[in-house]
Amino acid sequence: MNGLLSPKIMQITMKNVLLISILFLTFSVAISGATEITLNNIQKPDSAILFIVDGLGSSYFYPELTPYAIDESEISKAVTPNLTSGTRLLDIRTPNPSTGPAHSIIVTGYSGANEEIVGYSDATIYDITRQHGFVNLAVMQKGDFQNLRDEQDIILFAQNNSIDEPLITIQANKAPSGIYELMNDWKMKLPGYLDNKKGREKYSAYNKWGIDAANAVAGYMKKNHPSQKFLMTVNVGAIDSGGHNLGEDDYYLLIEDLDRDIYPLYTTAKENNIALFFTADHGMSFAAKNAKRGGHASGKYSVRQESLRIPLVIMSSNTVTGIFNGEYRQGDIAPTLLSVLDLPNSLQYSDGKPIKVKKYATIFVKADKEYSVSLWNDGKKVSESSGSELIFTGIPLNTNYTLKAVGADKTHEERLFLDSDKLLEFNSGKGLDYRGIIAIILIIVVIIGGLLIIRRIKD
Ligand SMILES: [Zn+2]
Repeated sequence: MNGLLSPKIMQITMKNVLLISILFLTFSVAISGATEITLNNIQKPDSAILFIVDGLGSSYFYPELTPYAIDESEISKAVTPNLTSGTRLLDIRTPNPSTGPAHSIIVTGYSGANEEIVGYSDATIYDITRQHGFVNLAVMQKGDFQNLRDEQDIILFAQNNSIDEPLITIQANKAPSGIYELMNDWKMKLPGYLDNKKGREKYSAYNKWGIDAANAVAGYMKKNHPSQKFLMTVNVGAIDSGGHNLGEDDYYLLIEDLDRDIYPLYTTAKENNIALFFTADHGMSFAAKNAKRGGHASGKYSVRQESLRIPLVIMSSNTVTGIFNGEYRQGDIAPTLLSVLDLPNSLQYSDGKPIKVKKYATIFVKADKEYSVSLWNDGKKVSESSGSELIFTGIPLNTNYTLKAVGADKTHEERLFLDSDKLLEFNSGKGLDYRGIIAIILIIVVIIGGLLIIRRIKD
């Protein structure tokens, strides 16, 4: 065997070569970056925070609303100057006021979503952000489950719902450098927040820890990875726990504490051009004033407006500030978040619509092969680019444009009224383009070649 590899080692080496070749080829076909063309001078966020307050009904702090108990008595309401500024949706509801399904609806934009659907490919906002170069980070006390955690590059989360004996864990996949260490530091800081506290004070401290940890992660990303776009999902759990365990007279005070404690995170978002989406999975209902226990998911609690109405407040450099009337649904949050980030709504199961909060419109062109695409307004060509994935952004709202896409064997022409973002998908209907065909031929050649070699080695 002098200088020669034994047949067995050779076989293993060949298998590795084979695997690597297949992976490499599949990868090079899958990767295709979108080209972005900005028509006007616009401001837009490059990252976002999706801040979910578990169990926060908008009835309890929106200035326009009044919360009632199930016995129809008026109950306490919080005063929250911070939580009501920005782009605010007055009437938005969850179709399913329970934690797991409601979180699934938020991230998929599908009103019938459950935890299983979150695991399907291209089902969530995380699949789309990842395809466009974002990292997905999360700090969650409640609302996370296996499929949701698996969508994150790194997540700091509570394994149980206990504020008295919290169990905090980190699950990491491809975290940006330094984030694991930072999250681990924050894991260690939790006892310091909770020590010598009880009742509402302890519940608030638990929330504050979650907010401060998220704020630290956002600040770290901007300082140490300034060009890395991210979507950070945050869930704070103690308002839900407080509603369930402490009762009506502490619930609204917990909301006022949140209004105070969230301020540093708002500042970080604003100063760093990070869009902030403030929402909830569901609300909370009480049987009567001073009720010691609240509920939202079952029986008489689940049908109350106080359980169904959730807040949606957006703070972003590219959204119109003020109150949006009209009826919206929890399933609209995901498409709206993608629109604000100028990402195409290619969520596979979504039945929600983007809420028209953005100051401009964006046209997404997605094709199966390369097209030369031009944009015309009033008979004049205003932009032109080519590629298979193009994003024309910064287009004035409520204008008419004609889009011409010229491909090797097909031409498309679309007249568009830009009342909101548009996604155009061109499929030549001729199956795969030449790159796909070449890739498949290469993969087959490599597989057959590899198998032949392995057989020869065996013989
Ligand atoms: Zn919940």
